[in-house]
Amino acid sequence: MKHKARKRFGQNFLTDEAIIGRIIDSIAPGPGQLIIEIGPGQGALTRPLVESGAEIHAIEIDRDLAAQLPARLGHPSNLALHEADALETDLPAISGGRNYRLTGNLPYNISTPILFHILGQTQLPLDIHVMLQREVVKRIVATPGGRDYGRLSVMVQNLCEATPLFDIPPQSFDPPPRVDSTLLRLTPRDRPLVEAPPHLLDQVVRAAFAMRRKTLRNSLARLIDEDSIRAAGIDAGLRAEQLSIAEFDALARQMARHSVS
Ligand code: SAM
Repeated sequence: MKHKARKRFGQNFLTDEAIIGRIIDSIAPGPGQLIIEIGPGQGALTRPLVESGAEIHAIEIDRDLAAQLPARLGHPSNLALHEADALETDLPAISGGRNYRLTGNLPYNISTPILFHILGQTQLPLDIHVMLQREVVKRIVATPGGRDYGRLSVMVQNLCEATPLFDIPPQSFDPPPRVDSTLLRLTPRDRPLVEAPPHLLDQVVRAAFAMRRKTLRNSLARLIDEDSIRAAGIDAGLRAEQLSIAEFDALARQMARHSVS
């Protein structure tokens, strides 16, 4: 069953058995668990996941790969294949409301939208192990003050504890991607770090980083006036990358006060 990798689906298949073993050890799958895998491809991770005895739900957009995968793995009874776009999939509906874990060697071209989609679910996974571009992982774990710090850092850290586990070189894949990868563990928090209504936090963070070179007074002008920024205890002369998550929270809560008054 030879498959030619499709670029438009971000297909870089893991072929390095040692790396696959380390990834599976990090996930530690086992009987009684329900694991959703995004993008099983040719089953490099799906096979050991299935062999662990966990109930595996794999979501694959490529019709050919989806059709071939059960046969490739010998039609295991604990594998359910969903031929679908992960970006449009309701994950708790797949798990039937049960606790679920999530994993995937994500297609690089849409890894950030997939992460936001996962973190926007009504029921979050117990944990998430994903392979991402190393640069994306750097942005996720970045702290204020640097170029890597942005919307992705604030929104992911607000919801999850993020732990980079190890790097994976391009040679571990076929075809090799042009970038290094990192296995990242995200553990959703019991509740978000901050209290602001999520849609307001998203609005203010998005606006601030859309014009990250400008001061808040300018980048947020359409959302919140300078007096209100000051009333939130924030210097309107700062730029987005200088603000902690708690400070974005203060701005979003100030906006909430305004929208009800
Ligand atoms: N898990 C396999 C591995 O590690 O060898 C394949 C990883 S490959 C980087 C990404 C996989 O995600 C491919 O199988 C691709 O077809 C699939 N994919 C791409 N976009 C997708 C989407 N929107 N929804 C579900 N699967 C997708």
